[in-house]
Amino acid sequence: MERVLSISFGEIALKGKNRKYFEDKLISRIKKAIEGTDYKRIYKEQGKIYIESLEDDIAPVIARLRKVFGIVYISPCIRVEKDMEEIEKAVIKIMEEKKAKATVNTFKVKTNRVDKNFPMKSPDISRKMGGVILKNIDGIRVDLHNPDTYLFIDIKQKVYVYTDRVEGYGGLPVGTNGRGLLLLSGGIDSPVAGFLMAKRGLEISGIHFHSYPFTSERAEEKVKELARILTSYTGRMKLYSVNILEIQKEISAKCPEDEMTILSRRFMMRIAEKVAQRENIDVLITGESLGQVASQTVQGLTVTNAAVDMPILRPLVGLDKAEIIEIAKDIETYETSILPYDDCCTLFLPKHPVTKPILADIERSEGNIAIDLLVNRALENMKVYDID
Ligand code: ATP
Ligand code: MG
Repeated sequence: MERVLSISFGEIALKGKNRKYFEDKLISRIKKAIEGTDYKRIYKEQGKIYIESLEDDIAPVIARLRKVFGIVYISPCIRVEKDMEEIEKAVIKIMEEKKAKATVNTFKVKTNRVDKNFPMKSPDISRKMGGVILKNIDGIRVDLHNPDTYLFIDIKQKVYVYTDRVEGYGGLPVGTNGRGLLLLSGGIDSPVAGFLMAKRGLEISGIHFHSYPFTSERAEEKVKELARILTSYTGRMKLYSVNILEIQKEISAKCPEDEMTILSRRFMMRIAEKVAQRENIDVLITGESLGQVASQTVQGLTVTNAAVDMPILRPLVGLDKAEIIEIAKDIETYETSILPYDDCCTLFLPKHPVTKPILADIERSEGNIAIDLLVNRALENMKVYDID
């Protein structure tokens, strides 16, 4: 009788020829996530991944695994040989444990006979093990329609018995879908955008723009902390930190006040694109959401796009603020995001920003400033942090 964790992965099982690639990536992500914990072996068996021999308190291990994208659910199992007596013992033990930690008055057994050579059919196994439970556990009944708990039995090369399915986020393992550079402000939206794209398999790096000494060091610390929280999902990430105070001063001195936001956003895109090209990153990611603020109109987003050739992914584009906040709370970036340190954009904030910028006008304004020079200077002073 051995304790193992079973890991189910949904979407990646559908990937045909790529399946092995995705599974191997998932396994390497799992290994990283549980690094330093006491496990003996990870193996695949017919559509699931199993982790063998874990420490007694597996709750922290499960908490880490929940954050590995690609995992649909995780189950603590007892593994036994294909032997009826062994299976019975495992069934009783798992059920006793379940009863000790939750109110369980009713149950239903579900058997999945993957090994078709096993002599007994699934419904017969379920019926037999149901009987075993009724005989050995006090005060419990069968309810086939709405049981308090299921008891699962998977018959494979070995037999796995379990009751719980701890949900993961699903998605695809980080690193299976190219690389993205996340424009990470200190706000609520951009960390959520990074989370959602990482969940689709993008490997994420971050870039942050600040206006030190007009913005504080604590504002930068806050962004580092947000990046650190994201790494619990994405694994280690690089964070680029760029001072754009000089650029903002230049815009403020030479361009119409109401274009400040859109002009600085275009500079952010240019700088981000340069960094991305240098680092072999394929796309930019922002936390923009259609209509959320004056700069995020269709025209605003179009003029922002026009500053660069690289595609910009905006996973929040169709979400409401309330929906974004819900995700931010769930992924635990919210509390950090709402800390009150100033972001560089609040400094030169125009009273009435243009809501429908026209590209030709914006480009005319930019004619007054030495774009390449300013971009290069900002890049020269860029700092890089390794967040883990
Ligand atoms: P957030 O909550 O992510 O700050 P927001 O609703 O405040 O978003 P804006 O400030 O208009 O919206 O920024 C839109 C997007 O532009 C952000 O989601 C982020 O991707 C990017 N961005 C804005 N400011 C910065 C910054 N200082 N550094 C890096 N990226 C930024
Ligand atoms: Mg912001």
